[in-house]
Amino acid sequence: MTNRGDVQPLKQRVQAEVDRLAPELLATSRFLHANPELAYEEYRAAERLTAILEQQGFAVTRGVAGLPTAFTARTGSGKPRVAFLAEYDALPGLGHACGHNLIGTASLGAALAVKAILDAVPGEVLVVGCPAEEKGGGKIPLVEAGVFAGTDAAMLVHPSNRTEMVKLALGMREITVEFFGKASHAAASPEQGINALDAVVLGYTAISALRQQVRSDARIHGIITHGGQAPNIIPDYAAARFYVRALDLAYLEDLCRRVMACFEAAAQATGCRVKISPAGKDYHPYKPVYALADLFQRNLESLGERVDQGPVDRELGSTDVGNVSQVVPTIQPMLQISPREVTCHMAAFADAAISDAGQRGMLLAAKAMAMTAVDLLAESSALPRVTSEFRSHPSP
Ligand SMILES: [Zn+2]
Ligand SMILES: [Zn+2]
Repeated sequence: MTNRGDVQPLKQRVQAEVDRLAPELLATSRFLHANPELAYEEYRAAERLTAILEQQGFAVTRGVAGLPTAFTARTGSGKPRVAFLAEYDALPGLGHACGHNLIGTASLGAALAVKAILDAVPGEVLVVGCPAEEKGGGKIPLVEAGVFAGTDAAMLVHPSNRTEMVKLALGMREITVEFFGKASHAAASPEQGINALDAVVLGYTAISALRQQVRSDARIHGIITHGGQAPNIIPDYAAARFYVRALDLAYLEDLCRRVMACFEAAAQATGCRVKISPAGKDYHPYKPVYALADLFQRNLESLGERVDQGPVDRELGSTDVGNVSQVVPTIQPMLQISPREVTCHMAAFADAAISDAGQRGMLLAAKAMAMTAVDLLAESSALPRVTSEFRSHPSP
C-alpha cells in the first residue's frame, strides 16, 4: 500500500487522463442525449459504452443478469475492487431530462482514468452498465445476480440543481389490491349485489386517515385503476395500485402491514373478497456511507467546486441505487448543472444535460470519482474507514 504522500501524483494523473479523454467523453454524452432510449431498450447506449470499454482493454460481459442492455466491464486485478455505475436510460417524452447521458459518461470517464494508474497500484476497476433506473429498477436483478459480490465500493454522480454529497432515498414497495364482489342491477336489485367499488373507496379513505399517524418522511400514495363498468351495475370488481415508501426497511414492513389492514377492513365491511399482492421487487432505502462521501467531497472541492450548505434537501424519492447501497458501500453525490428552479424530470433539465454546465459537470464528476478511487486504491487508511462505517450500520 502506498502512503498519503504518493496519492497526489496519482490524482494528477487521473485528472490529466480525463482531460485527454474529454473529446470522446463529450461526444459520447452528446450521442446518448441525441439518441434517448427508454428503460430496458438502451441498446445503442450500451453498445457505445461497451465498444469504448472494449477498445480500451476492459473485459466486457453483455446481457448480465438476463438483461440485454446490462453489462459489466473489468480491468486490473487484486484488491480493492471499485465499481462505477453507468446509467443511460431516458424518460418517455422528455428524453434525457434526468441527465443519465451524463451519469453513464462520467462513470465511463472515471473508469478509463483509473485504468491508467493500475500500473502503479494494485486493484480492479469494474464498470456496471445499469439499465432501467427510471422504470423497473434494473439494478435490483443485478444485485440479486451477485454482480456486486466482492466489490469494495461503488459510485456514480447524479446531475442535479444542487451539489450535495449525501441524498437519502426511500425504500418502496408497490402493492396491487383487488376486490371481488357481486354484480347486480344498481336500481332494480342493489340488495343482491356486493359492491367492490365501495370496498376500494373505503380502503382508500382508511389509508388517507392512516397517513396522519405515520412518520413525516414516509409516503403512501395510490390510484384506483378499476372502479366498475357502468353506473347501473353494482361493480363486482375494483382495483387500486399503491406505493408505500419509508426510510428504513423495518418501518416499510410495518407500514405495509397497516395498509393491508385498511384493505382487509374494507373487504370485511363490504363483504368483498380481497387479494393483495406486491407488484415487482422492493426498492431498498439508500444506506449512506459518510466516510466515502467525505473522500469524494474533498476531491470535488480540490477541483474548485463548492458543496451546497444549508438545510438538507428533504425532497426524497426512491432509486434502485438503494438496493446496491445495501450490499456494497455506495455513494451517489448530486452535482449541480441547472438553476435551482430547474429540477430533474423537467423539459428544461434535458437542455441542462447537454449544456456547457452539464458537460463541465460530467468531466468534474469523472475526475472526482477517479480521484476518490485513487484514495481507496492507494491510501492505506481510506478503504478500512469506509468498510468499518458500512459494517457498523447493519442493513435495516
Ligand atoms: Zn429520474
Ligand atoms: Zn436519474
